[in-house]
Amino acid sequence: MTEATPTMPTAYEAVIGLEVHAELETRSKMFCGCAVVDSTTAPPNTVVCPVCLGMPGVLPVINRRAVEFGIRVGLALNCQIAAANVFARKSYFYPDLPKGYQISQYEMPIAVNGWLEIDLPDGATKRIRIRRAHLEEDTGKLVHVGDSSLIDYNRSGVPLLEIVSEPDIRSADEAEAYARKLRAILQYLDVNSGDMSKGVLRVEPNISVRPVGSDEFRTRTEVKNLNSIRSLQRASAYEIERQAKVWESGGQVAQATLGWDEVRGQTVTQRTKESADDYRYFPEPDLPPLFITPEWIEDVRRTMPELPDARRDRLIGLGLSRYDASVIVAEKAVADYFEKALAAGAEPKKAANWVINELFARMNKAGLPGERIADVRVTPGALAGLIRLVDEGRANHSAAKQILDAMYAEDGAPDEWLSRLGLEQTQDSGLISEAVERVLAASAAEVARYCAGEEKILKFLLGQVMREGKGKFPAAAVQELLTATLRERCG
Ligand code: ADP
Ligand code: MG
Ligand code: ZN
Repeated sequence: MTEATPTMPTAYEAVIGLEVHAELETRSKMFCGCAVVDSTTAPPNTVVCPVCLGMPGVLPVINRRAVEFGIRVGLALNCQIAAANVFARKSYFYPDLPKGYQISQYEMPIAVNGWLEIDLPDGATKRIRIRRAHLEEDTGKLVHVGDSSLIDYNRSGVPLLEIVSEPDIRSADEAEAYARKLRAILQYLDVNSGDMSKGVLRVEPNISVRPVGSDEFRTRTEVKNLNSIRSLQRASAYEIERQAKVWESGGQVAQATLGWDEVRGQTVTQRTKESADDYRYFPEPDLPPLFITPEWIEDVRRTMPELPDARRDRLIGLGLSRYDASVIVAEKAVADYFEKALAAGAEPKKAANWVINELFARMNKAGLPGERIADVRVTPGALAGLIRLVDEGRANHSAAKQILDAMYAEDGAPDEWLSRLGLEQTQDSGLISEAVERVLAASAAEVARYCAGEEKILKFLLGQVMREGKGKFPAAAVQELLTATLRERCG
């Protein structure tokens, strides 16, 4: 009898390229004078004109500011900026696209051949190449109500930059890191708020898998409708595993456009593609080629703000760990808040600890994302004041946390809360020695272990005495008294 050879399961790796659509937050639309408004709150169809409604006989005019934003992003992504830009008609029919075509860029996009650096968990970095970034216009928005579909054209014609990466991403976590970094760059450049829940930033991963060690590109799927970076990570992880199972069971992955069902945690097929869509691109006859001079590019380069990586390195220079610095700069609002706390006198490492460990925890509990840090009641100045209370020995660490809780929930300055909550450090050494006596009396076994040479017990005993003080005991005084008393006990 021959024994069946067990077949080793193949190990698969992911191949992912991201297509990101970022609305450019200019004052007016891409090809007309209509204002760019928040399409989730503005009354529908209030900022429209014959151009963005696609009426016949009108002519588009290129928004100079949108082009400048495109150059900004291109430079930040280390791209070459094209001297000659040509707009193209991309024909397709959809109710939210009244012209029957979208003005886009096809063969001559504004930016090509760049890269973006992502941080890997092991501290290393990796470059993800950017293939291209091109300017186009957004479509209107379909709102499905019962059996009907309503259309809001406020978004129609809003400038859009599509940023396409090379398929250099190898895991769901790398996809997440890429999206976070790109989102931060767009925020720092002041071209996009990064609010995926409002749809101003839309991230679509193209995903395939292949056996580890192979360099082939297999059939890919594209996932749409992701409304957070967290969903991007989850959907990618799900899709990678799904495709690996298909190949492993001898099947074929079908090229498809998928949606993400957040509740069920699954990708769902929206449509399967037999071949590439035929968009019948041709040069837009209503627009002349757009020439970008080297002088213009230099002007934009000169006014580029500090970008996340540079800001991270600067914070590392102030003494922050690479990890803490990366966390702080990931959201521009957080980095701004942090630097305001420094300007108010806070020491960088302490401020980072308070923001990352304490403030974020409270925001998290309240369901507030990091980008909303400016909305919390605790101002950067108040945080600096809180750190000062601890530095000056007027509040110990646990008292400071209670004060932070109070400032998070209600108005009031740190020292006001210090006295309102009665957390001033006690000057009464009698109270402290009573507490030391109580704790030692209740911890005979621990005292014996300490006396037998187990030094780490000291920390435990210290914690017990501090707890007795309910935030009012100065740690240094307690430590001094406790070690002296123990020295006597041990004899
Ligand atoms: P299309 O224009 O049809 O969307 P592109 O060639 O422009 O196709 O690619 C779109 C995205 O898909 C890019 O980000 C690219 O990196 C990525 N991509 C291309 N081939 C693959 C593949 N085999 N697996 C995963 N991603 C891929
Ligand atoms: Mg695509
Ligand atoms: Zn308009």
